[in-house]
Amino acid sequence: MTAEPSLTFAYEPNATPVAANERAARLVAPQFGRVFTDHMAMIRYSDDKGWHDARITARAPLSMDPASSVLHYAQEIFEGMKAYRLADGGTALFRPEANARRFQASARRMAMAELPEHLFLESIERLVEIDRDWIPTSDEGALYLRPFMIASEVFLGVKPSAEYLYMVLASSVGAYFKGGAPTVSIWVSQDYTRAAPGGTGEAKCGGNYATSLVAQAEAIRNGCDQVVFLDAVERRYVEELGGMNVFFVFDDGSMATPPLRGTILPGITRDSILTIARAQGITVREEPYAIDQWRADAASGRLVEAFACGTAAVVTPIGSVAEPQGRFEIGGGGPGQLTLRMRDALVAIQRGTAPDTNGWLHRLD
Ligand SMILES: *Cc1c(COP(=O)(O)O)cnc(C)c1O
Repeated sequence: MTAEPSLTFAYEPNATPVAANERAARLVAPQFGRVFTDHMAMIRYSDDKGWHDARITARAPLSMDPASSVLHYAQEIFEGMKAYRLADGGTALFRPEANARRFQASARRMAMAELPEHLFLESIERLVEIDRDWIPTSDEGALYLRPFMIASEVFLGVKPSAEYLYMVLASSVGAYFKGGAPTVSIWVSQDYTRAAPGGTGEAKCGGNYATSLVAQAEAIRNGCDQVVFLDAVERRYVEELGGMNVFFVFDDGSMATPPLRGTILPGITRDSILTIARAQGITVREEPYAIDQWRADAASGRLVEAFACGTAAVVTPIGSVAEPQGRFEIGGGGPGQLTLRMRDALVAIQRGTAPDTNGWLHRLD
């Protein structure tokens, strides 16, 4: 084992930060992903120097060579997490170590350099501490953090890049879906799949999103909010939405979610809900669930609720499911009881209003 590389982050304060009154105006009702803080984190990697040049610097456009390999072969991965204001006035990240490990797993799948966990954590801690005033004070507000890494070697040959640029952006966000927990309608994609066995489904890479957009556009054309994908082999089993995992709730009080077998993104929200549900004595199965079964169970009343989950939107009730042959409603179309209970339990831990029995909060003070 080689020693963990130790790096000191240089801090280059933004010389022209947004004025306090202007910042307050931008934080009133921030649209997701549009309001950015004054700074960003960056660390460079090269095969010969390893990880180097760690900085917290003013957020600014990048200048890059048009032959940078990410622009041609899409060697890119990202993460998504939030910093929350706690009920006691402190600030915390939620399970950032899990994001650090998933970022490493994504890097391995994409043949990229693996950022050591402590550098991932430090980049985020430093950035949040510096831009803490950008966390909205509203109930559902948070600072959304977007770590990502791109292949930055200037070379048109096809091979793993010898250089990478890792960065973290911070973006002030309010509620993802306005007005609490509105239900979403979802479209079952028939023509497109998201991930095949052996592919990149469990890596958080931009490419997975690029290929989902045409299916998402089709969902909108069919009057739905989101798309849900079926497995690529049998076109039968429900996998996940474009960017959220999915759960089903049954009339016997049990829950189910598709198992992680390489084609589904291992969501940290998914894992947290599994843990919370089991601690509450709820039976949760990780098992394949077929779209035909979903339709039949919704009709018979065996299926009473369904919801999607992920960091950005937390827990989102699914009200109806549309297919070319028709549409079916779930539990009368409104948010279900267990869905709201799971959301409230998770949010309470994230905001520090419920005991953090799993040690999920990573305090910054
Ligand atoms: C990020 C992501 C999720 C949710 O993961 P969380 O860790 O819960 O935010 C689910 N599906 C896809 C495809 C994703 O990219």
